[in-house]
Amino acid sequence: MIPDKKRGRVLITGAAGFLGSHLCDRFINEGFEVVGMDNLITGDLKNIEHLFKLKEFEFYHHDVSKFVYVSGAINHILHFASPASPIDYLKIPIQTLKVGSLGTHNLLGFAKEKNARIMVASTSEVYGDPLVHPQNEEYWGNVNPVGPRGVYDEAKRFQEAMTMAYHTYHKLDTRIVRIFNTYGPRMRLNDGRALPAFIGQALRGEDLTVFGDGSQTRSFCYVDDLIEGIYRLQFASYYLPVNIGNPQEVSIKEFAEEIIALTGTKHKIVYHPLPKDDPKQRRPDISKAKAILNWEPQVSRKEGLKKTLDYFKTLTEEELYKTEHRFS
Ligand code: UDP
Repeated sequence: MIPDKKRGRVLITGAAGFLGSHLCDRFINEGFEVVGMDNLITGDLKNIEHLFKLKEFEFYHHDVSKFVYVSGAINHILHFASPASPIDYLKIPIQTLKVGSLGTHNLLGFAKEKNARIMVASTSEVYGDPLVHPQNEEYWGNVNPVGPRGVYDEAKRFQEAMTMAYHTYHKLDTRIVRIFNTYGPRMRLNDGRALPAFIGQALRGEDLTVFGDGSQTRSFCYVDDLIEGIYRLQFASYYLPVNIGNPQEVSIKEFAEEIIALTGTKHKIVYHPLPKDDPKQRRPDISKAKAILNWEPQVSRKEGLKKTLDYFKTLTEEELYKTEHRFS
């Protein structure tokens, strides 16, 4: 199933982002040549600067919403370019819609041209504010198309439909991974998501901002586990969507308390209004990933949070206090 070393050339979009950069590392370590592509709107070259010295790595500063072309053979494509946090896609809604729709279309066309296997990064957001719990792949979701999250959720739903159309009509070799909340080193401290928000606040000596009463739940997967699941899916023979995430569910209030305990901050939780359409609960049903990929998460939240905190502690003062966005 997973081939031997020296297996060809891979295009990874969103290469300078959180997940994209970890994927670049993984594919390089497995003996592939990697072409990274990113427009650097939300990604950061710092995440991949260690790869630039390698002859196996190339980088293209390019927006995949525009025509995509790379010369030479490409055997695998992983389309991971997209803003992915609620405040990012609220600030750049049009780009979010374009990268999921036009960008996906360009990459599917490019995969067809190169006869490459393509994986698209989908999301638990396709389930919206779910009425089925935990969420399995057969659930069709509860998404508000005109709400603030609609730009991301609908782009990703369109992405799945487009990918299936290329699979069905062009017989393209496709994979769809539905990614649930993931955390770990290289998350952007100011991306607005719960974990970097809470750790950043703890390290800066601020109160932790829990939205709503904190009873909404999420299930957080450590990045190494997620990358393992994605890697296995790329080399499995399965084209329908597969959930990859950690089924350990926690309320956001408890999660904030865990970060307070871990960091030893003397600061406390303060409550802010719950953003519109914030899903009340989220937990992946990973039966399919277990059966098809023989995969399940190995890293406990305690262990993963510790490693993530160690990473955030290496940031400079300037990075810790930087709150503005490159695109604002
Ligand atoms: N959240 C919070 N405080 C913050 C940031 C997020 O309470 O400073 C909440 C948010 O309302 C949501 C949960 O934490 O219920 C997870 O939010 P995140 O943005 O990480 O991802 P989501 O799963 O909502 O896309």
